[in-house]
Amino acid sequence: MTQEQLRTYNVPLAFVDLYPDRPLIVRATDPVALVQSLTPQHVRQLVSLQLLDISADLEELEGWNPGLPIEVVLADPEAETMKLYRLCRLQRSHPVRVVVPIVPGFSKAVRVASFLQLPVKLEGAQPDPDLIEELCEALDFFLHNKAVSQPIEYFSGVLTTVIHKQPVTLWEIQEEHPSTVRYVDDYGVQTLARRPFIRTNENLDSFQFELTKRVLCDESECSSCEFFLNCGGYFKWPDPDYSCVGVKRVFQRMRDAALELHDDLSLYPTAHTESAT
Ligand code: SF4
Repeated sequence: MTQEQLRTYNVPLAFVDLYPDRPLIVRATDPVALVQSLTPQHVRQLVSLQLLDISADLEELEGWNPGLPIEVVLADPEAETMKLYRLCRLQRSHPVRVVVPIVPGFSKAVRVASFLQLPVKLEGAQPDPDLIEELCEALDFFLHNKAVSQPIEYFSGVLTTVIHKQPVTLWEIQEEHPSTVRYVDDYGVQTLARRPFIRTNENLDSFQFELTKRVLCDESECSSCEFFLNCGGYFKWPDPDYSCVGVKRVFQRMRDAALELHDDLSLYPTAHTESAT
């Protein structure tokens, strides 16, 4: 199989027939339309569904293809926080993840989703400076609150890659690497995954190579950044002049926590052996 055949396409429901035999994430606002439009052949192609309206009638999806992963994308996290309770029933028949855009007040939705045992994916690559504090608070909540038992991406992914010393970047952790995922916008144009409001004239086939070349040029912020191995210049797109002072604070906390966890884990076999003797 070629790389292209293995690539996943995130498509609006209306374009589902334009990508035959390709792995698909199909997105829509209306569960009824999803259930009525998707044939068994489409379902075989499905990696997951993306529901863009948390207020929609979820009952339609409850008994439909149980086990199929569903992502519910919040449009306004603070206002929609209490609607997360609506996902409890859906969760009984499907793995459900909540996509939370990083906008003011997003952390309330993160907390409630975590209390409801829902995995979370944070979305938004160039947070304003006034959101960095909220991002740090959300990270502290993830690291220290005992009620958190499900992943909060990208925190969980970065922690794992640092602990295991894997050269995996935020592009992969956030499922936005264009070699493996493409987002098809509502006009049929392919762009970077889950950055629906930004169209790019970049060549997606060479995007990663070109971006790396750009962000690692002499004197650039990335060229002297200790987090490049797990970041890959993620925060330098689309605006190459975005200042990473704030996100580096978040990275530093994630790395400190990962190293602490690593030290704790490395003590475990000794403690285990001692207690067994
Ligand atoms: S945190 Fe910023 S400076 Fe560091 S590698 Fe990522 S994009 Fe580059």
